[in-house]
Amino acid sequence: MILASPIVISTQELSPRKEAIIIFDHNWNFLYISEEAKPFFQTKNVSQLIGKNIWKEYPQLEGSVLQKNYLEVESTKQPMGFDFFASLTGIWYQVYISPYKELGIIVYLRDISDAKRNQEELQTYKERLEQAQTAGEIGIFDWNMKVNQIYWSTQQEELLGMTPGSFSGKFEDWEQMLHPDDIARVKKNRKLILAEHKTSITDDFRVIYPDKSAHWILLRAKIYYDSSGDPIRMIGVNMDITEQRQTELYRQFFSEASKILSSSLDYQSTLNSVARLAVPTFGDWCTVDLISSSNTLDLVAVAHRDPKKTKWAKNWRNTYPPDLHNTTSGISRVISKGKSEIYQYITDAMIQASVQSVEQQQLVKDLHFRSMMIIPLKRKQKIIGTMTFVTDTDQRHYNETDLQMAEELAERASLSIENAKLFSSEQKAVQSRDEFLSIASHELKTPITVIKGFSQILQRRFQNSKDKGTLNLLQRIEVQVERLTKLINEILDVTKIEAGKMSFTYEAQIVTEIIEEVVSDIRLMKTPHELLIQGASKQMVLCDQERIRQVLNNLLSNAIKYSLHEEKIIVHIKDTPTDVVVSVQDFGIGIEKEYQPQIFQRFFRANAIEGTLSSLGLGLFISSEIIARHKGKIWVDSEKDKGATFSFSLPVFK
Ligand code: ADP
Repeated sequence: MILASPIVISTQELSPRKEAIIIFDHNWNFLYISEEAKPFFQTKNVSQLIGKNIWKEYPQLEGSVLQKNYLEVESTKQPMGFDFFASLTGIWYQVYISPYKELGIIVYLRDISDAKRNQEELQTYKERLEQAQTAGEIGIFDWNMKVNQIYWSTQQEELLGMTPGSFSGKFEDWEQMLHPDDIARVKKNRKLILAEHKTSITDDFRVIYPDKSAHWILLRAKIYYDSSGDPIRMIGVNMDITEQRQTELYRQFFSEASKILSSSLDYQSTLNSVARLAVPTFGDWCTVDLISSSNTLDLVAVAHRDPKKTKWAKNWRNTYPPDLHNTTSGISRVISKGKSEIYQYITDAMIQASVQSVEQQQLVKDLHFRSMMIIPLKRKQKIIGTMTFVTDTDQRHYNETDLQMAEELAERASLSIENAKLFSSEQKAVQSRDEFLSIASHELKTPITVIKGFSQILQRRFQNSKDKGTLNLLQRIEVQVERLTKLINEILDVTKIEAGKMSFTYEAQIVTEIIEEVVSDIRLMKTPHELLIQGASKQMVLCDQERIRQVLNNLLSNAIKYSLHEEKIIVHIKDTPTDVVVSVQDFGIGIEKEYQPQIFQRFFRANAIEGTLSSLGLGLFISSEIIARHKGKIWVDSEKDKGATFSFSLPVFK
């Protein structure tokens, strides 16, 4: 202890205080500096300070808070405490100054740098935690399950739509916020997890904000148990996942909607299905309006969660048809501007502005429309109608994401309408072509039959005449008439297939017999080929004999036509346990691999032979249709220049 003579200070009097002590006289001269106070001075020989004036020794303190407070205590004789940071030493002091007897002033000093540093660190941690919560849009909770008290961070309160500081901390009050449809599930899940003594929990559920809107929350927490296994604490985070949930729902919706939108070309029924599917992902109501040719608005699709209401909507529309010329609000404005509109919150004032009569206004109010989006439907930049989405519960108000999704849906719907319209005009064109072909080929058949008949009469007349030249010409007329008949029959068959009118008369038959007949007919025509039959079938098949003959004739005439310089054509017949398989094999020009998949399509010709009239590329198409109608299969094996084998199978009749 350093003492200034002649003043004696009893150490007993100053203890038990552990602080450093400095005593000044009334003239601010150091009277006493305790051992603990030594480190506060940078001077090595602190005892030299005794009797010296503090302000002279430390001129840098001139005007400082320290000086101000010292002087104040001296003048008021009132003690005072404060924290002081000595920039010179970098030390934080807790300072307590008091008049000391009649001697002067006593100063108690304590180094609180560590405490200050901890406090600052704590503050930094707190700030970091808060920033992280804000950035991650999460809230922290800590539930003391023993005393049933929950701590919520400010962010947690905000996350659940509450003003900070308004949560009571009671578990029951939190549970009351849960969506009525989710309470039971959440309770059950928690019970199960606690019963199984699991140490973590993950769950998601909806909460209802005080403004009645619904939000999806993800919960992740740790659970602690005491030694007897009772849960004592649950601490974790909550996260708002409403946006992700909605996006997920939209994704599912679009994968369904794409199927519907591409499944049918009847746009009216497609739009109805899409509207039905849009509820409830897109809201409680979905309507589609299209502008008619007479420039009125037709409600072509309407859907609501409660199907009864759709009827109501249709009646309403009949009673109060919208006026397309009044473009101040709603559908008419969207149509005139060509831009989507979103009404996040529908107010009474909005209803009054958009609906004329008081009676109508009341009816609309009774519907509880809460939020609405109207999206234009476009076709080639032209507005053709609108899609409208409405929510009628407080739980949902549309946002920008909803609008984007609705616009995407409207775009897809527009495309489907476009396709349907294109298809319907194409369909009409095909229909008139088929009608024309059907009538033309019918009408052609009669004159051709007459030509054929007359040429046969003339041939008979010239049979015994010396005019062999005319006979030859007449025979050539007949060959060409035959070809023409074949072509006309093919066209007729195709129109029948297209119209679904090709009829069949099925009978149980043995295929070998049909093949033998067809082959012997062709042999009579004196082809340059040797026609062989290999194998036989004893199985019965259910078939239309005439149509199977037609297939065989077609395959054999192709084999002849495309292997003119070869000698052999072989017809193979084979039984399998389930089918009878017939193949016609030639050794001619064959078919390139790349053409093989298309060979059975109509009008397809892989190697059209110049100048041959009888080649329209229809024979295989008709054959494949005939075989398909017999529940059989038809296929080709071929290699360019190595010939082709066309086969078909017919199921065995048991
Ligand atoms: P087409 O009247 O043109 O013969 P098909 O439908 O019967 O009509 O045949 C379609 C096309 O398949 C033919 O144009 C030809 O290119 C090819 N084809 C059919 N059979 C054979 C075959 N045996 N050898 C080579 N090519 C063939």
